[in-house]
Parts: sequence; structure tokens; C-alpha cells
Amino acid sequence: MQELKGKSVFGGIAIGRISVYNKDESTVKRVKIEDTAAEVKRFEEAKETAKEQLQALYEKALVEVGEVNAMIFDVHQMMLDDLDYVEAITHMIENQGINAEYAVATTGDNFSNMFAAMDDDYMKARAADVKDISNRVVKILQGKKDSVLDGDEPVILLADDLAPSETVQLDKSKVLAFVTRHGSTNSHTAILARTMNIPALIGVKFEENVDGRFAIVDGYNGSVYVEPTDDVVKEYESKKQEAEEKKRLLQELKGKENITLDGKKIKLYANIGGVADVASALQNDAEGIGLFRSEFLYLESNTFPTEEEQFQAYKTVAENMAGKKVIIRTLDIGADKQVDYFNLDKEDNPAMGYRAIRICLTQPEIFKTQLRAIFRASYYGNIGVMYPMIISVAEVQKIHAIVDEVKAELDAQGLPYGDVEQGIMIETPAAVMMSAELAKEVDFFSIGTNDLTQYTLAIDRQNPKLDDFYDSHHPAILRMIQMVIDNGHKEGCWVGICGELGADTTLTETFLKMGIDELSVSPSMIFPVRDKIRSTDTTK
Ligand code: PEP
Ligand code: MG
Repeated sequence: MQELKGKSVFGGIAIGRISVYNKDESTVKRVKIEDTAAEVKRFEEAKETAKEQLQALYEKALVEVGEVNAMIFDVHQMMLDDLDYVEAITHMIENQGINAEYAVATTGDNFSNMFAAMDDDYMKARAADVKDISNRVVKILQGKKDSVLDGDEPVILLADDLAPSETVQLDKSKVLAFVTRHGSTNSHTAILARTMNIPALIGVKFEENVDGRFAIVDGYNGSVYVEPTDDVVKEYESKKQEAEEKKRLLQELKGKENITLDGKKIKLYANIGGVADVASALQNDAEGIGLFRSEFLYLESNTFPTEEEQFQAYKTVAENMAGKKVIIRTLDIGADKQVDYFNLDKEDNPAMGYRAIRICLTQPEIFKTQLRAIFRASYYGNIGVMYPMIISVAEVQKIHAIVDEVKAELDAQGLPYGDVEQGIMIETPAAVMMSAELAKEVDFFSIGTNDLTQYTLAIDRQNPKLDDFYDSHHPAILRMIQMVIDNGHKEGCWVGICGELGADTTLTETFLKMGIDELSVSPSMIFPVRDKIRSTDTTK
């Protein structure tokens, strides 16, 4: 038996035969062309066919994995029309008198290398996309078929890397798991894999000679066992059954209310980091989005995202959630989330430094751009907004004044917006102690236990040496939560928890007894928390 280690992108257990997928990267020959105009036309036609294929894939993905995840094929269609890309290819055909296949393949390689060399992880991930669209056009020019799997037996698919278009084309009934040498957790492929419910590992160093061998993929611990011993097979057969039974039982909770045995209902929302996470929130039956960490839009970008870019992102999330609540947290840049173009000074104590609302209140033009985008998007769904790292009533009043300016500007421009609930994060001890006064200013509180623990216990949440001291169950934290709930309720504010502690099922009963109104957790934790809520009796 051989054990290969990698990183899990999606859990689950698969047992079956390995199929090593080799991309059809047959060499593209350079050929001299006389009639370059005809060759450019041939390229243009292939490009159009590629777009038609991508449109078909978009429609397939739309049904299978939802609009947000299907969007990558829309993006691929746009990439095919990118002026720089198209010009590079046509110039190469015209100036060098070469065949379209060679010009497309070479340009694809050049652009892909350029993206791969960038510092930004998001841009790096685009290298695979440009390679993917170029391979598609080359295949069309070569008159090759567009397929990923053949054969009837379901297999564990091993590949160097899988492009998003390849992942979505996988016939799920034929794939037990997929395992790649490369790829990143943030890539679209990884996101699609999670959404498609296929156990998946990345970063697995495998040899080609494993092709056809029997294996087990453990998507929980990130291992592939090639030619496992009988004992290991037995062990995994029963683990697989257990996992399937657990999943099946949890799936039965789909559509069920988040209600305790004694009839207390609470809201169970999802935390997301970007537009792409909406699919998984919906698949896990989130009643809403309780925390949209909007700073990821800034982290993914090389420059300040424009109002329009942000508006489109927020609008897409609001529309996809179809009337369910979407709470956008305004940008929480600083501390561990650094962005070059903000030009923030190096600080000795960044967690206690110039971050989050402190940046927004001192650079209101950045804040207003985001608020305009959020309010404009609110017209298309049920949007709420919340502000991070609040320590005083004065800050909230300043925010309200800025929000009023933004609304007045939108009114003057005739731009519509909806009713936006406004809340604050309670993640500093000062906000806890001022919660009675703060509750008069806002519609809701969302307790950020990750930072509240770090600031209350004076323990840097980024320091692994302090992991054993970082105790979110500390009585000080639990008393603070109770205090915030009581003070919020006195003023008619609803109170939720969006920090990681909200998903801690050992505390669900405690939170319910405290009177919590909402828990916002990562999508995969919704069913386990719902399960806990439904088996709790708060009168006992
Ligand atoms: C928190 O601090 O608990 C929180 C939800 O915000 P973040 O983890 O993004 O700081
Ligand atoms: Mg926080």
C-alpha cells in the first residue's frame, strides 16, 4: 500500500479505480501560412465556436451548480474577446505568417505565464483560465472532440490540474473523487468541486504509473491510499457508510425550521467571503447571509474596486439569495488583511492599529464608494449593512452622518435603494460595555467572537504559540455575550453571533438559553447547528 498526502478541498470518501487524466496537449506545430487573412478568419470562427461551447457549458452549470458558479464560463467567454488577447493572436498570424493553432497556443502560454508570475493569488489562479480557453480554441482548430471522461466504470480521477470547464463537464455519475497535483483552495475549480459534492484533494504528488490501480481517497484527512491492504479497505468501507449515513441524515434537515423542541425559532445564516460562496450557502439551506466579509473584494484586487464593481458583486449576491437577508460587513482591512494599494504604514501592533472602521472614518471617500455600492444594490434584494471594530457611540453617529450624505446623493441622482437594516459588530470589549447606549443607535448587533476573544483575553489570534490560551469559552466572553444580548433586547435590537464560536455546537444550547436571535456560520456548519437547535429544549 502506498499513501499519498495532499490538501483536502472537499470531504468524503471514495473507493475505486484510479484513472489518470492526461490533457490532450498534443503538440501544436508551427506552419507557414500564405493567406493570413483566411487564417485570421479561421481563428475568428474557432473563437466563436468556443464561445458557443462555453455558453452551453454555462447553461449546464447554471442548472447543476447555480448562477454564481456558472459565471466562470461567462467570464471565459469574455476572456476570449479580450482585446489584448485577440490582438496578440491576430498580429502573430499576420506578422509572422503562421498558423492559427500555433498563434493561439503560444499566446495562451505567454498570457498564462504572465498571470502565473503575478504576486496576487487571485491573478495567479487566472493562469489556468487563459490556458483553458486557449486549449479549447486550439482543439476546435484541430477538429478535436470536447470530452473529459470516457468509459463506464466510475473512477477516482487524478490529474495534473483541472480547469473549471473540465470540472463542470465531469459526468458526476462517473467520478468518485478528484485528485490533482496542482490547483489552489481558492480556485474556481475547487469552489466548483465543493459545490458539486465530489471529494477532492489538491497538492498530491502522484506517479503516472498509478493509473488503473485500486485506491481509496480520504477527503477528510487529505490522503490517497493506492492498493490498500484488506484491513484498510474494510475500515474505509465502514467509514464511508458512516459518512454517507451522517450526510443523509443531515440532508433530511433541508427545508426544516431552526426551531428548538420548546418552540424557540432563531435565524441560521451563512458567513461568506465572496460572490462565489453563495452557491454553497444556498445548497446548505442558509436562511440568509449573516456576514459577507466584503474586504475580500479588496484583497482580490490590485487597486480599489470601483463602485460599479462592488455594486455588481453585492447585487449578484442579493439577487441570488432571492429576498433572503444579506448582511454586508463594510471593509475590515488592516491587521492580518493587508492590501498594498491602501499604502498603510507598518505598525508595531497592527491588530490594535489603523484598521476597519478607523480607515473608513478617516478616509470617507473610500467608505462612501462602498456605501453607495451597498445601498444601490439594496434595491435588488434584502440587504443589511454592519460596521466592524466599533468602540463608541460617536463612531456610530459619524457613520450615520456619512450614510445620510450617501442617501442624499443617491436621491439627487435618482438612484433607487431599499430599506437597509444597519448594525454593528460587537468585537471589542468597549462595544460590549457600551452596548446599552449603542443599541439605541442601530437595528442589530452581530458579535464577532474571534476578535472579541483576542481583545478581551489580550491574546493575538494570529499567534499559534498562544493557541492553548485562546479560549473562546472563557467565562468573560460568555458573560459579555449575555450582556450584549440583554442590552440589545432592551432597545429592540436583534443580536447574533458571526464569529467562529457561533458554529460551536457544544455552546448552541447555551446561546439559545441566553436568548440569541441569530447564528451565522460557515455554510458546511449549517446542518450540524440546525440539528443541535432542533434537539435542544431551552426550558430544561
Ligand atoms: C470576528 O472577529 O469574530 C469576525 C467575525 O470577524 P473577522 O473574523 O473577519 O475578524
Ligand atoms: Mg473581526
